[in-house]
Amino acid sequence: MSISDVTVPNDLDSLWMPFTDNRSFKKQPRLFSEADGMYYFTPDGRKVLDGTSGLWCVNAGHRRKPIIEAVSKQVEKLDYAPGFQVGHPLSFEFASRLTGMVKEYSHVMFTNSGSESVDTALKIALAYQRNIGQGNRTRFVGRERGYHGVGFGGISVGGISPNRKMFGNMLTGIDHLKHTHNLEHNAFVKGQPEWGAHLADDLESIVALHDASNIAAVIVEPVAGSTGVLIPPQGYLKRLREICTKHGILLIFDEVITGFGRLGDSFANEYFDVKPDIFTTAKGITNATVPMGAVFVRDGIYDVFMEVAPEGAIEFFHGYTYSGHPLACAAGLATLEVYREEDLFARAAELAPYFQEAVHSLADCKNVIDVRNLGLMGAIELESIPNKLTVRAMEAFQKAFERGLLVRTTGDTIALSPPLIVERKHIDFIAETVRDVLKTVH
Ligand code: PLP
Repeated sequence: MSISDVTVPNDLDSLWMPFTDNRSFKKQPRLFSEADGMYYFTPDGRKVLDGTSGLWCVNAGHRRKPIIEAVSKQVEKLDYAPGFQVGHPLSFEFASRLTGMVKEYSHVMFTNSGSESVDTALKIALAYQRNIGQGNRTRFVGRERGYHGVGFGGISVGGISPNRKMFGNMLTGIDHLKHTHNLEHNAFVKGQPEWGAHLADDLESIVALHDASNIAAVIVEPVAGSTGVLIPPQGYLKRLREICTKHGILLIFDEVITGFGRLGDSFANEYFDVKPDIFTTAKGITNATVPMGAVFVRDGIYDVFMEVAPEGAIEFFHGYTYSGHPLACAAGLATLEVYREEDLFARAAELAPYFQEAVHSLADCKNVIDVRNLGLMGAIELESIPNKLTVRAMEAFQKAFERGLLVRTTGDTIALSPPLIVERKHIDFIAETVRDVLKTVH
């Protein structure tokens, strides 16, 4: 069959949708055909407030003119250039702009997604350890309930069982720290809970079991997002840092969600003042206009690769066809400009207390067993219906959608992460709508 013979059925069936209950969706589709600022619009013209920045990524709001113009201009000029052994100016410019945003990280490597950033970070960690003569350090430590995308590296260090159970052995040599979510001690705490820093000591037990000389790196999300917004206890991340430093283990923060203003700082490592050796980003890096990710490495890491490889040799055998794609770099540069001009990270910090009060005002709603928040991330956890995990939250999701609000659910938790351009009236609408919805959810 030639391409000209292909007829276009335009049905819903051909597409195998990602992370979706395909059969339910196709019976009752939810489609967005336009977006603007804080809103999506359905094909029949209904307005839906974006309470989740798409998938935690449209931090500057939708369809921002400077980003659209930058991408349009770029595609007219240079549609694509390879990144292996040749380059194009925008990728260098964007890399410099990014490293200029954060002290102590003088190099970035580009990817096209969060999953690729995670795999890249894990590979940098392994190769770095080998380059400094620590080739036995091949094990990784992740954390229960961690989400690090869907590559084999990411699901191996990740700790969400449905993402793992069908996929065989994955990477070997992985341990998981205990997660930090504990309703007995921390339910309804505003911001970071006081209880739980000692959970980082779990790493000492793993070190005692395997010996530090076998462990390359620990990877955690500073705030676990996709698993339901799990806020790190006060002092937890610092303790993790100390234990890693003591044992020569690299610390990787997965900042795919927390990067680019979500907590009111450029990155979570600045917000918490805890410096990982490597951190991953994606999503907000281009405001999701063009897919992209970047992995930041701490000063000295890149230098080791440059020193160890023989002159003329490729120093790191890794990269993607679309690493540093011109359109992504154009989108990224324009996105950083929007963040800067509108001071959106400071705006997130300023609105965080208002957002906190709004989400915690839902604590007395039916079936709510926890409310938690940090920066512009919030979660309302519902008690699960026995033997029907996720059903209650999905009902809330559907009802919120019908009332003009997009939320995200994971397990039986409703997660909220509005674009940083959100206004108080939008936050009020989010809280009122969720309150209304929870009255009728079974
Ligand atoms: N890491 C974290 C912390 C994430 O939240 C996500 C996505 O939500 C990913 C990695 C994977 O990103 P992507 O879906 O772009 O591959």
